[in-house]
Amino acid sequence: MKTFKGSLTMKRSSFHLSLSFPAHSFPTTSIYPFIDPSPHFSAQTFASKVVLVTGASRGIGASIAQHFSRAGASLALVARNEDKLGAVKAEIEATVPGARVLTFVVDVRDTAQVSKAVADTVKHFGRLDVLVANAGVMRPLGTRFASVDPIAWWDTLEINLRGVFNFVHFAIPHLQKSGGYVVAISSVGSQVRVPTESDYSISKQAVNRLVEFVPIEYPGVKAFAVHPGNVPTDMALGSGAPVSFDTGPELAAATVLHLAAGKADWLNGRFVSSLWDLGEVESKYKAAILEKNALVHKLLLP
Ligand code: NAP
Repeated sequence: MKTFKGSLTMKRSSFHLSLSFPAHSFPTTSIYPFIDPSPHFSAQTFASKVVLVTGASRGIGASIAQHFSRAGASLALVARNEDKLGAVKAEIEATVPGARVLTFVVDVRDTAQVSKAVADTVKHFGRLDVLVANAGVMRPLGTRFASVDPIAWWDTLEINLRGVFNFVHFAIPHLQKSGGYVVAISSVGSQVRVPTESDYSISKQAVNRLVEFVPIEYPGVKAFAVHPGNVPTDMALGSGAPVSFDTGPELAAATVLHLAAGKADWLNGRFVSSLWDLGEVESKYKAAILEKNALVHKLLLP
């Protein structure tokens, strides 16, 4: 049981923080054969591709960057902390001989900085194939929205939603040319209403909707909103969220690689959880998902 300030009391069991299909053998908590990244590493699937990852200075974004680099991609890494970005770049260069890595010290809220980072990436590498909009924040939970600093509440949307929009906005013309991919790192928090998490939940739900709009407005570009699993990163540990951590960052990284490699384009414009076995989702649920246009936000009538 966790007691929050403002006399809100919540039991862990009052949240169902995983999303599940009716009959299945998932959630999965580690990399499984259907999304095994090793074939991408050995075949260098992304050798001619350019991938931009935001929030790449640590946590899930750093792992995503590592995975794409091992699959041969040229990388543009974005975050605010120059030292940590440099450390991620150095680690990639140490483990992937010949790695091509640019870093950009950028605040995702700053439209001019974002515009320049995307333009400089394309100027340097000549193209852009994949945008992984991963940068995100979560305030420490425990304060209801009427008590929280309103600027802090709104800032979550500035980073989690505006930051994603900024990158998608400037990346789209290049992704249209390459027939590329947007992968926005969303959250299971977009699908549940956890007290004191309204800013995070709203920001991530709006990101899911933005992802739905990508193929509607730009049919040549594929887009996915991905829940990475509950990973013990700085953000997650600092939030005090009442979740049990179920996986490391590698599962999300392998999921993102699988999606950006064109292995699940039928899920274009939809929400995907890294905790689902995508092979099982495809074999058991693809027809129903497409028929009912599921995994998008909609109002259900009884
Ligand atoms: P993390 O370790 O705290 O990493 C967050 C990253 O975002 C850092 O690289 C940080 O870099 C960057 N960032 C934050 N604000 C930024 C800004 N204004 N401009 C540029 N970069 C910024 O957290 P994480 O868990 O890996 O989170 C990655 C994504 O996964 C987030 O979108 C989060 O919502 C999502 N997610 C995580 C979990 C989980 O359990 N960990 C669950 C669901 C969803 P700088 O500080 O250097 O700028």
